[in-house]
Amino acid sequence: MATRVLIAGGGVAALEAALALRALAEERVSVELIGPEPHFWYRPLAVAEPFALGDVSHFELAELASTAGATFTLGALLGVDANSHEAQTSVGAVSYDVLLVACGAVPSAAVPGALTFRGPADSDKIRQLLAEIAAGAAKRVAFVVPSGAVWSLPIYELALMTAAHLAARQIEGVELTLVTPEEEPLQLFGRAGSEAARELLDERGIAVHAGSYPSEVVGGELQLVPDGRIAVDRVVALPRLKGLRLDGLPQTLDGFVPIDAQGRVRGLADVFAAGDITSFPVKQGGIAAQQADAAAEAIAASAGADLVPQPFRPVLRGLLLTGAQPRYLRHELTGGAGEDATASPEPLWWPPAKIVGRHLAPFLGAFAGVESPAEAPAGPGALAVEVELDAELDSLSARRLAPVDVDGAGRSVGEVMSVEPLVVAPEDTLGEIAEKMRARDVGSAAVADYGRLIGILTSRDLLCAFAGRVHPSEGRAREWMTAEPVTVSPQAPVEMAVTLMTEYGIHHLPVVEADRPVGMLGLRQAARAARRGPSVGLGF
Ligand SMILES: Cc1cc2nc3c(=O)[nH]c(=O)nc-3n(C[C@H](O)[C@H](O)[C@H](O)COP(=O)(O)OP(=O)(O)OC[C@H]3O[C@@H](n4cnc5c(N)ncnc54)[C@H](O)[C@@H]3O)c2cc1C
Repeated sequence: MATRVLIAGGGVAALEAALALRALAEERVSVELIGPEPHFWYRPLAVAEPFALGDVSHFELAELASTAGATFTLGALLGVDANSHEAQTSVGAVSYDVLLVACGAVPSAAVPGALTFRGPADSDKIRQLLAEIAAGAAKRVAFVVPSGAVWSLPIYELALMTAAHLAARQIEGVELTLVTPEEEPLQLFGRAGSEAARELLDERGIAVHAGSYPSEVVGGELQLVPDGRIAVDRVVALPRLKGLRLDGLPQTLDGFVPIDAQGRVRGLADVFAAGDITSFPVKQGGIAAQQADAAAEAIAASAGADLVPQPFRPVLRGLLLTGAQPRYLRHELTGGAGEDATASPEPLWWPPAKIVGRHLAPFLGAFAGVESPAEAPAGPGALAVEVELDAELDSLSARRLAPVDVDGAGRSVGEVMSVEPLVVAPEDTLGEIAEKMRARDVGSAAVADYGRLIGILTSRDLLCAFAGRVHPSEGRAREWMTAEPVTVSPQAPVEMAVTLMTEYGIHHLPVVEADRPVGMLGLRQAARAARRGPSVGLGF
């Protein structure tokens, strides 16, 4: 009998996985997609829409699915019972042999007072901004990248295309600024990518504030962290992304799902995840498709297909719309430090679609009846970038977690924390853990695998599980914990811990040394010990 694969999602990762599974496993699998939205949206050209340089396309998912040899059900994944291989959905329980979670990420406003550009839904706001600039009502406009998990390319495109739009209409005297926490513009694309981006920004007269976190817009000023402010009339910001909360899945504080190199959700049998919902810090369509391919290969192999599944090896390919002539750039970057970049007038991958999916790009082209162009589109111009990424990308997450500065050191976390924290194993049942928490009179437990901290389980998580009628002897720590939690070292000042806990809204902070849990710090405990309130913010 065919392996029943349920794919939750109807976006880039879901479709790429469905297509890859059909190609690799053929009739060994039956594939069902389930998603709450009947259309697949091709979002990259959202940035071009307000400038009348491109249209956002959408396709009927039911039709796409059936052409891809799958079925589509309208509904939303709510939770997973991995033990009984059952997905809880808005249309009832659905049994599966293998589940692939590809629900994407949820955008939320990150910079109070700014116009948040999430995609097609916000095209009109950009059009209105352009009209205000043309009418002389906005003379200083900042385009900003917030901290956290974002795909920053669209804000560069919006800034560059705004500059090109103004130049074409001979509108002068408008100050455009780009603010980003990256040390260099488009840092992820390596030195050559950054240099090319900076050159383009300079050419268009766009000022750059790199290494700055935009925090909020107050009284006509954009506040920056660690310091500085910019006088502005309007600010356009990218959203911060979060993962949807799903019962029975390990998720980070931001709702992202940790996976291994094959796309398996860590600690759960027969559950995979791909795309923006995973905890991989780069949220991009091409990366989502590569994760989907890795998962599809593993699923196909276990369904009996004759192949050796290859792990996810992230290669970032970007096509930057600039409003000028096309330019292509390739950059190989391993371990975060390689510097062998080249620039070229030729496309570096095929077809030169904005979202690069091995199966999805040609499929969409054929479905929409569009021949893949022999060359990348001329106007509005494009900068293509290809980067091989370090699969760990620690530098990115560090940028998100580290407080930017600590003014004066008071007591250290090690002096204040509860030593000998309650440590449980990922396999422990919720019932066992609840008993231990009661016996020790603590509200949280560190979850460690072979001694290494992988999560934290709080009394609130237990409450959520029990409220969802999970049996105490069946639910396991690995399914309900917060994965990859925020941590501090014992040497950190207590003020820093208070800042982390306040900014992230958490009450229990695991203290680690060489990845091992050595203590637990409660918010009240930390706040009492702090000499004074937090002297800095995280920039969000
Ligand atoms: C303006 C903009 C421009 C971009 N430009 C580019 C670009 O040029 N190149 C590029 O590679 N990437 C680009 N991206 C990023 C790219 O769109 C995403 O990284 C990519 O779509 C992620 O794929 P995904 O399948 O994880 O999520 P999505 O494509 O967002 O799909 C998520 C799917 O899950 C469904 N879903 C939601 N909740 C549930 C649920 N509870 N149960 C089941 N299904 C659910 C949704 O309806 C949707 O179908 C851009 C994004 C934006 C916003």
